[in-house]
Amino acid sequence: MDAVSSPVTVTRHGAVAVIGIDHPPVNALSTGVRQGLLDAVRVLDGDPQVAALVISGGAGRFIAGADIREMSLPPGPPLLPDVVAAIDGCAKPVVAALDGAALGGGCEIALACDLRLAGPKALVGLTETRLGLIPGAGGTQRLPRLTGVAEAIALVCEGRVLKARDALALGLVDAVEGDVLAAAIARAPATAKRRLSALPVPPGDKDAEAAAIARARKGAKGMPAIEEAIRVIRAAEAGDFAAGLAAERAAFLALRESAEAKALRHLFFAEREAGKVPGLEGVAARPVASVAVIGAGTMGAGIAVALADAGLAVTLVERDDEAAVAGLGRVRAVYERQVKSGRISAAQGAERLARVTPTADWGRLASVDLVIEAAFEDLAVKTDIFRRLDAIARPGAVLATNTSYLDLDAIAAATARPQDVVGLHFFAPANIMKLLEVVKAARTAPDVLATALALGKKMGKQAIVAGNCDGFIGNRIYALYRRHAEVLVEDGASPQDVDAALEAYGFAMGLFAVSDMSGLDIAYAMRKRRAATRDPGERYVDIADRLVEAGRLGRKTGAGWYAYDAAGNRAPDPLVTQVIEQARAAKGITPRSFTAEQIQRRLLAVMASEGAKVLAEGIALRASDIDLAFVNGYGFPRIKGGPMWAADQMGLAAVLKEVEAAHAAGGAGSNPAPRLVELAEKAGTFAPGQGA
Ligand code: NAD
Repeated sequence: MDAVSSPVTVTRHGAVAVIGIDHPPVNALSTGVRQGLLDAVRVLDGDPQVAALVISGGAGRFIAGADIREMSLPPGPPLLPDVVAAIDGCAKPVVAALDGAALGGGCEIALACDLRLAGPKALVGLTETRLGLIPGAGGTQRLPRLTGVAEAIALVCEGRVLKARDALALGLVDAVEGDVLAAAIARAPATAKRRLSALPVPPGDKDAEAAAIARARKGAKGMPAIEEAIRVIRAAEAGDFAAGLAAERAAFLALRESAEAKALRHLFFAEREAGKVPGLEGVAARPVASVAVIGAGTMGAGIAVALADAGLAVTLVERDDEAAVAGLGRVRAVYERQVKSGRISAAQGAERLARVTPTADWGRLASVDLVIEAAFEDLAVKTDIFRRLDAIARPGAVLATNTSYLDLDAIAAATARPQDVVGLHFFAPANIMKLLEVVKAARTAPDVLATALALGKKMGKQAIVAGNCDGFIGNRIYALYRRHAEVLVEDGASPQDVDAALEAYGFAMGLFAVSDMSGLDIAYAMRKRRAATRDPGERYVDIADRLVEAGRLGRKTGAGWYAYDAAGNRAPDPLVTQVIEQARAAKGITPRSFTAEQIQRRLLAVMASEGAKVLAEGIALRASDIDLAFVNGYGFPRIKGGPMWAADQMGLAAVLKEVEAAHAAGGAGSNPAPRLVELAEKAGTFAPGQGA
């Protein structure tokens, strides 16, 4: 073995030279890897002993993509396009042996080779748009030469990751081999040069291309990378490879600096940070093979589906047999819909449903490893359930509650084992929403927290650790955000003005439309519960109460903040306008108008300020956890990076000014967070490294 440059090595197999990459964990294309690859290809190209080259990432790997940490720095030599050009220009055949992830830049390297062989576990795709970018090393020009323009647009704009068989079907790889490295070494000497850069783009079906573009635009969610990807891939059709490359590179470099790409990179790192919880280093999770869910309503049924999807056996416990059967019916309905839409096969649906056992027999709880309570949001109901659980559950079983707002310590105190109690706060629909708040009570044991996090991971959730307070991280911040949206309405905006502003910002749905969907009664009950302890200095907007009292609970009653037609389309309702006008008149408010930008800035600022309080109180471990909560649980647009990140971009001095205005309008509870004041004074930021 002759080392060219660590972490890239070359081994000889007769006349075949294998360029190996060993850069754990995923062979990201860091500077050293790019340099090593470039040196190896250049040296081997000129080595008369070598007839052919193989590029391998080792067993189970190839190259998972760019080194995202380097993306926030100016591009440094050697650039990936230079590495790719060296492979493309090599006079000898180059074979890519893809045994694992060949994504982003890794896929571009594979596309520059003359033959691509995949192991059964290979994953192939140009995934750059997921980070707000487009491929920047020829991917947009080589891929359409293989698949045609329409397919290339679909693959790049969706950032699709193909399994080996699917990549083979689309021609992205030439064969799937059990021992991919041995096959690559065997086939390399007889491989003919086949430079994709020299091939024409196959003539495509214009209708398919138009359909792919329409689909890509629909899924774009405001990401400029999608329009750029379409433009640059279509440029490949002109046939001038070099011109196409230049267009691609220019677009890539511009996008790299875009606000959207920076926000998406922030979230990428936020996801990696979220799993790091102080005090859990080296703490083992308790084994969880069986789970019970108590309460099979909206949430319980959704949680049961999410657990069954993760392969766990679920006992679904209800108050009586009838309710248990009804609960199973809700689970079945979810699977029936998924089978009907083609998301899963009928066999998969049946298999998952079979994992869920409904019962009214609490004795069944004696053997399970973990219980998730999802009964009514009522402290008396929950403490009663936990008292009973304490008597039945086996020692060491984890006892979790899905409560949205209630005091976890009070629930834990109903048991003689508060160390085993934890919050597992799922979001509706629980089988779809990615966010899971793992709520730590005062006495939750570290291995119980670790067990909750491990379960979240197994379920494919984005788990965030939260401390115990009213509403934890998400609902606490959301409550203030909603309160200020209602203040804006009372001061002159219409619910549709607020929703339109939020939707223009990038939320899939405005706040009032969301309230109608989840039901106005939930927040109503919470306001009633808090009424006794509410600060008299807080401005109380009672419009939502009037709507609930008029029987307008949202979509489920056909009307809420909006009126709904039979097809479920929303429309402003004069009755709501009347209620709003009465509320204004009662307080002597002369309505004023708000622009979309004023609404956006005000609501973002109050979220960030409450987020700063949550941070200072230790309810959230870090600002980026709050961002993850909002993008994964509350529809906050990913390309804005979350409320704390977006506040940093707005500038904390400007945020503070908005919060001061919100405080003047909203009274007690809306005062600027001391941490926000402090950061604004020193031009600081919530995200480390973002400051001036
Ligand atoms: P739901 O009313 O739809 O369901 C509650 C279910 O619990 C009912 O089927 C009821 O029969 C059952 N139940 C009540 N007491 C029980 C008992 N003693 N034993 C067994 N079963 C019992 O309510 P939901 O919307 O599913 O909410 C459940 C919990 O999840 C609440 O704590 C709520 O705050 C929380 N939550 C709700 C949402 C949401 O959007 N709906 C989101 C996150 C968390």
